[in-house]
Amino acid sequence: MTDLTVISAARATLPDTPFAARHLIDGVWCDSADGATFDRVSPSHGHVVTKAAKGGAKDVAHAIEAARLAFDAGTWSRSSGKDRAALLLKVADLIDRECERIAMMETLESGKPISQAKAEIEGAADLWRYAAALARTMHGESHNTLGDNMLGVVLKEPIGVVSIITPWNFPFLIVSQKLPFALAAGCTAVVKPSEMTPATTVILGELLVEAGLPAGVVNIVLGYGEPVGTAMTTDSRVDMVTFTGSTGVGKAIVKAAAATLKKVSLELGGKNPQVIFPDADLNSAVDAVVFGVYFNAGECCNSGSRILVHEDIAEDFIARTVALSRDVPFGDPLDPDTKVGAIITPQHQEKIDSYVKEAAKSGAQVRLGGAPLSVAGLDGQFYQPTVVADVTRDMPIAREEVFGPVLSVLTFSSLEEAISLVNDAEYGLSAGVWSENVHTCLEFALRAQAGTVWTNTWMDGYAELPFGGVKESGQGRELGRYGLDEFLEAKTVTMRIGRTRAPWVQPRTD
Ligand code: NAD
Repeated sequence: MTDLTVISAARATLPDTPFAARHLIDGVWCDSADGATFDRVSPSHGHVVTKAAKGGAKDVAHAIEAARLAFDAGTWSRSSGKDRAALLLKVADLIDRECERIAMMETLESGKPISQAKAEIEGAADLWRYAAALARTMHGESHNTLGDNMLGVVLKEPIGVVSIITPWNFPFLIVSQKLPFALAAGCTAVVKPSEMTPATTVILGELLVEAGLPAGVVNIVLGYGEPVGTAMTTDSRVDMVTFTGSTGVGKAIVKAAAATLKKVSLELGGKNPQVIFPDADLNSAVDAVVFGVYFNAGECCNSGSRILVHEDIAEDFIARTVALSRDVPFGDPLDPDTKVGAIITPQHQEKIDSYVKEAAKSGAQVRLGGAPLSVAGLDGQFYQPTVVADVTRDMPIAREEVFGPVLSVLTFSSLEEAISLVNDAEYGLSAGVWSENVHTCLEFALRAQAGTVWTNTWMDGYAELPFGGVKESGQGRELGRYGLDEFLEAKTVTMRIGRTRAPWVQPRTD
C-alpha cells in the first residue's frame, strides 16, 4: 500500500453550517408538510454537510399538481422557442457564475475531486446552452407528396409533465442531461435528486428562479425513492418518467409506470469492456484503462470496469496497468491534485470489497489493491486502486457493476472471441476497442452490442452526440437531437384543400 500515491487531508476549510436544502414547489421554497428532515454526511470528511427536507406523499402530490397546472396553463408549454432559449441561456450564465459554489457542494456530498466537480459543472452549463439552441431550431415536418389536394403536417408537441429522478454519482451533470431538454421541448417537471446529493439540484432551483422561470414549471422534491420517487412514477397527472440510476430500480419504475402507461426513459448501469489488441498504441491504451476505471472512483455508469486483453500481450499490459495505477493520486477530494476521491457510503465500500474477496476466492488474482485505503487526516471511506487478473466470464466481478475503483482483466485470442465476451453481458451501455487496424475497429463497432462504441479513446462525450444503452442498460437516449425528441410527441395534422374528396356515400336523389 505504501507505494500508492495518496493525498492526505488538504488544508481546506469546510463550511461551518450544513447547507439547508428545501423543496421548491410552485415557485416557493418550503419545508416538508410534516417537517421531516434528513442529513447528508460527507463521504470524505465524515461531517454533516447538508440538512434536507425529507419529502412525503403530500409534498410530491403538491409538486405534481403545480407542474400539471403550469403545463396546462400554457405559459411555458406554449411559449416561443426564442423565449425558452433566452431563459436557458440565462441559466447557463448563472451556472458559470456559481460554478465554484456548486462544485464545492458536489464534492462535499459525493466525495468526488474538486477539479472534476468543476469540470462537471462547466460541462453542465454547456448542455443548457446546447438545449437553448435546440429550443430555437426544433420543428416538425411537412408532406406535400400525399397526392393532389392533400397536405400533411407533423407537429412536435411537449409530452407534458415529466418526472426527473437522478442518482448521486454525477448529480449536476445528469439533471442537466434531462431538465434543459425537457424545458426546451416545453414540458414542466418535478425533479428528485438522490438522497445522497440533494444540494446542487437545490442550487439549480435557485438559479431557475433567478432566471425568471414561471412558478410551477420546475418543482424540486427532496427525499428517498419511497415515497417520493414511487409517487412520481405512479401519479396519473405525470406523462413521462426519465430516470437515471440502477437497473433494479429502473425495472421497478417500468412496472410502476405501467398502470398509467407513462412513457419511461431509462439510463441504467453498465459493465463496459475495453478490448486491447496487440497492434494498439499501448501507452494510450494503458492510460485510457486507468482513466476508465478510476475516474469518479469507478462510481460511473461508463466505468471501463472490465478489460479484454489479447493473450499475447496480457502479462505486459497488466504490469503496465498496475504500475500506472500506483501513480494515480487517491485521497482528499478537496485537494486540487487529487484524481480519485471517496466512496459514497460505508455500505457501498463493503459491497466493493466483497466483490474483490469473492473473485479472489474463485481463483482470480488480485494484482494490486483489494482493500480499503486510509487517508491521513480524514474520517471518510476510500478504496485502493485495484487490479484483478485471471477473471473468467462467469464470475460476478466480470458481469456485475462493482461501482468502485476495481478493474477486472480477461483475455482473448481472436476478434471473434473478443466480440463474444463483449456481448455475453446483460448490460450494453458502452464498449471500446484499441487497435491501429481500421478494419478491426470498424468490425468491432458494428458488432458490439452497446449504445456507444469508442475506438482508440474512452469516455469522450459531447452535447451533440446521443447517449444511452441497449439491453439492461436502458431505453431511450439523452443528448443530441434524440435527447430533445424524448420529450416530444408527434401530432399528425392531415389537411384537404378545397372540397375535393369524393363522397363516401352518394345521397339518394329520389
Ligand atoms: P439508484 O437506482 O439507487 O437511485 C437512483 C434514484 O432513484 C435516486 O434518486 C433514488 O432515490 C431513486 N429511487 C430509488 N428507488 C426508487 C423507486 N422505487 N422509485 C423511484 N425512484 C427511486 O441508483 P444510484 O445508486 O443513485 O446510482 C447508481 C446507479 O446509477 C448505477 O447503477 C449507475 O450505473 C447508474 N447510472 C447510470 C447512468 C447512465 O447514464 N446510464 C449514469 C449515472 C448512473
